[in-house]
Amino acid sequence: MADWMQVDLHIHTAVSPCAHEEMTPWNIVRMAQLEGLELIAITDHNTIANAWAVIEVGEELGLAVLPGVEVQTREEVHLLGIFPTLEQASAFQDFIWSYLPDKPNHPEILGEQILYDNSDRPVGTVERLLLQSVLLGVEEVGAAIAAHGGLTIAAHINRRSYSLISQLAMVPDGLKLDAVEIDRSLSYQGFMKEYEELCRYPILCNSDAHSLTDLVGNYRPWLLLDEASFAALKELLASDIRSRIQFR
Ligand SMILES: [Zn+2]
Ligand SMILES: [Zn+2]
Repeated sequence: MADWMQVDLHIHTAVSPCAHEEMTPWNIVRMAQLEGLELIAITDHNTIANAWAVIEVGEELGLAVLPGVEVQTREEVHLLGIFPTLEQASAFQDFIWSYLPDKPNHPEILGEQILYDNSDRPVGTVERLLLQSVLLGVEEVGAAIAAHGGLTIAAHINRRSYSLISQLAMVPDGLKLDAVEIDRSLSYQGFMKEYEELCRYPILCNSDAHSLTDLVGNYRPWLLLDEASFAALKELLASDIRSRIQFR
């Protein structure tokens, strides 16, 4: 039976150099549950390295966690790819990594890229710089997400940097989007007024959390979902979402 649920499909762990080291699997799942979330996605910059650990903690504590990636394209646009399984997400990551320049991270500038296990133990770091563009355009990245069975969401589309609007001022014809995400600086109503032409896409609000306090707040909509799963999310985004989204 369908139920109203809160969902957050854009959360970073500490492997993203710009995220706080408190973004560990247990902290994220516990905070998401305190906030009443029923479905989340882990979307680190150009990697799924910590997603498995968050998924396992979610299984233990009863929270549905999907693997995802926030890809930075050649045009410096951020696109979210959300996947049904870790295997599909992993195959997608392998694909984009062959287009990710082999430059080292400099922790003193951007921060460490910390790997955690499912007990919140730091078990290493990623050496290659994650916060950089892959050598693929938005249309190629969108096609690759779809080819790996994922959903493509334009991240923080109204933000003045790293968004489709800031970099390209439009959605290219060859890019198939399953949804657009609003940056928290703008309300849902404000977005609909300002970006009328983008309202043909399902509109989502996620946290883009880089710290635990970013997860706190009532900016997320309630979505009428059949269950907390990838399949139900995909079905919702393909339907007429307007009758199935509420802001409270
Ligand atoms: Zn971003
Ligand atoms: Zn992000």
